[in-house]
Amino acid sequence: MKRAQQVYRAGGIALLHLLVLVALLRGTSRPDWLAFALVYPLAAIGVGVAMHRYFAHRAFATSRAFQFLLALMAALSFGNAVHFAGKHRLHHRHSDSEGDVHAPHQGWWQCWFGSLIDCGYSDDVVRREASHWLQWPELAFLYRHGSLPALVVCAVLFATGGFSMMVIGGCLPAVLLLHQSSAVNYFCHCRGSRDFATRDTSTNHVIVALLTYGEGWHNNHHRFPRSARAGLRWWQLDLFYGVICIFEWLGLVWEVRRVDARHLRRASLALQS
Ligand SMILES: [Zn+2]
Ligand SMILES: [Zn+2]
Repeated sequence: MKRAQQVYRAGGIALLHLLVLVALLRGTSRPDWLAFALVYPLAAIGVGVAMHRYFAHRAFATSRAFQFLLALMAALSFGNAVHFAGKHRLHHRHSDSEGDVHAPHQGWWQCWFGSLIDCGYSDDVVRREASHWLQWPELAFLYRHGSLPALVVCAVLFATGGFSMMVIGGCLPAVLLLHQSSAVNYFCHCRGSRDFATRDTSTNHVIVALLTYGEGWHNNHHRFPRSARAGLRWWQLDLFYGVICIFEWLGLVWEVRRVDARHLRRASLALQS
């Protein structure tokens, strides 16, 4: 079963890349990129705000309906919110040590691609880390059929604009977001600078942070994992935090967790001493 799962995941990743390459070589149209402009921002929010800051870290509270919407946004890039949450919690618990699911010391390939196929833990172990989410039948359904929403979007785009719209609107966001996430997993544990003393090698990386809408302030994040805001300095642009603030202003989310100035000052001093 595990072997079949690995082949399925590796095949899916390879197929997504191949489809994008073929579509770009064959040529694309303006409507294809309009579809991309529609899907990509929602899929990106699905990764950074939904899967990471909400499902993995519960950085804010929300309603059951909006929670489901967040899980659907995560699924736009073939993401599985509950599986991601479990795996990411294992990353935080074992960062840069033996049990980490992705760390630069495992090698670039394993950190970038390999952990997406086999993170070193069985799916049962990963699921147990985030099993409380499965109390909601709609999340349990998405956990079992994680690829379904993205496949439906691909089918709709294919029916609307053919092969190139399906790939540029439905597959390219998933490919880009895969590489953006892997850039954080790799570069933000081996390059960049550290503002806080943490027991791992996490770093803040300006370029990765800009390319991932704030996720690259990863040393800050490892120091304050439950904070909804990763860019803690005024100049550390964190668009995903901005999105959470907009959701909060709209009344869609509440109890947004923030680091207070006293904690921030004390944690900064720990690195200097
Ligand atoms: Zn990390
Ligand atoms: Zn995290």
